[in-house]
Amino acid sequence: MTLRAVLFDLDDTLFAHRSAVEAAIVAHLRTTGIAVEDPELIRARWRDIEEHHYHRYLAGELTYLGQRRARAADLMTASGAPPLSDAEADEWWTAYLREYRDAWRLHDDALPCLDALTAAGQRLGIITNGELDFQTTKLDAMLLSSRMDVVVASGDVGVTKPDRRIFELACERLGVAPGKAAYVGDRLRTDAMGAAAAGLTGVWLDRRHEPLDSARAAEAEALGVVRVEGLDEVPDVLLRR
Ligand SMILES: [Mg+2]
Repeated sequence: MTLRAVLFDLDDTLFAHRSAVEAAIVAHLRTTGIAVEDPELIRARWRDIEEHHYHRYLAGELTYLGQRRARAADLMTASGAPPLSDAEADEWWTAYLREYRDAWRLHDDALPCLDALTAAGQRLGIITNGELDFQTTKLDAMLLSSRMDVVVASGDVGVTKPDRRIFELACERLGVAPGKAAYVGDRLRTDAMGAAAAGLTGVWLDRRHEPLDSARAAEAEALGVVRVEGLDEVPDVLLRR
């Protein structure tokens, strides 16, 4: 197989979303007057709330704005504060996003990986579950926009990973057959298995060595999913195939 394109997930794959969120949420909560005695508790709570409401947004149960308001309201009430009105939740988000933007950075292994793939003649792209404007702001700030031949955001195209259509659409926009493309992401089912089911080479970026039950491991193997622990492994693993 001659690979022609490598597409990436953005958050927690190229972009260090989790560490930016963790720094921002603790800093922001302190500015709201809440005494943060256990930062790890706040981080874990915020992760759970995000996971819950963001999936409701991806499933179409909440709007993008609605999931933001719900997340702010849940975190504040869980921290003992009175309920937030929608207007208060919107102000809360504006202040939180300032902290989040201040903490933006790429994973250290992102640029070397992109450089190596570009040097090998690969075309590059992004497929992200999120809003195009917000994700483009991140790509611009990280100086990645000009390096990408295609950027597909679920909020723009109306289908979300792991739906095969979002992977097919990105390949179509690139003019590359799915069989000649790979997709790299940190979520096994949403990213790697979704891409593999659409005919791409699915690469699971398992930075935190997540435990995997045997049924899921077998399912991933059947789809030919490749597991890596860092982006530094990606060029070798893909280009020697
Ligand atoms: Mg991700």
